[in-house]
Amino acid sequence: MTQVNADPAELAKFNELAHRWWDPNSEFKPLHDINPLRLDHIDRLARLSGSRVVDVGCGGGILSESMAQRGAKVLGIDLGERPLAVAKLHRLESGVEVDYRAVSAEDLAREQPGAYDVVTCMEMLEHVPDPAQTVAACAALARPGGHLFFSTINRNPKSFLFAIVGAEYVLKLLPRGTHEYAKFITPSELSRMCRRTGLEPGDITGMTYNPLTRVYRLGRDASVNYILHARKPG
Ligand code: SAH
Repeated sequence: MTQVNADPAELAKFNELAHRWWDPNSEFKPLHDINPLRLDHIDRLARLSGSRVVDVGCGGGILSESMAQRGAKVLGIDLGERPLAVAKLHRLESGVEVDYRAVSAEDLAREQPGAYDVVTCMEMLEHVPDPAQTVAACAALARPGGHLFFSTINRNPKSFLFAIVGAEYVLKLLPRGTHEYAKFITPSELSRMCRRTGLEPGDITGMTYNPLTRVYRLGRDASVNYILHARKPG
């Protein structure tokens, strides 16, 4: 039997908050705020219109729905029961066409290897026991020539200060205990995970938050949050 690469305590955190997922002033405000930025970034590098996309760890579907609105055929997958239920309810309200399934990336990769033009896995790797295994499953889901996007949190004193002390304790943007420093992943570690599974890591784009202006931006500063773009050769 294969072990499921998921941490029940992590899934429980998101289950508990899930009903507030689409409230733009809730714990999920940062996801709402960064969504237009990451959506444009993905669309610029991978052309969403007409693409088959799998959104791994889709949660309540903020990114999944927005990619579908850009003309992609999107499947959102998550192992959190309530986030997925919320995603399906919101789909009823918005009328956006998205498929959702409670399946792990590993199981879907065995079922549909090479089936996707674009694989997105945002803000999830820092919540799984074995991120390299998730990256490998994402690689298997992508078709040759496909695009992959991973976003997570860098690991250094500044990211500890901003992502944990700042976000959870000072600004209270996120509930305490949302993130664990030891699970943060440096861009070079993530690049190595990609290369080990045959992907070609490319662009690394930073996401910064200015607490004074409350504005998020994409740019070169990947010291805290970042998005890595990789291609599957072929
Ligand atoms: N990707 C979404 C949600 C990020 S929150 C976005 O950026 O908008 C993290 C999500 O990962 C939660 O919905 C949680 O249920 C999910 N998750 C955590 N571990 C997982 C695992 N092992 N497999 C699938 N989903 C997982």
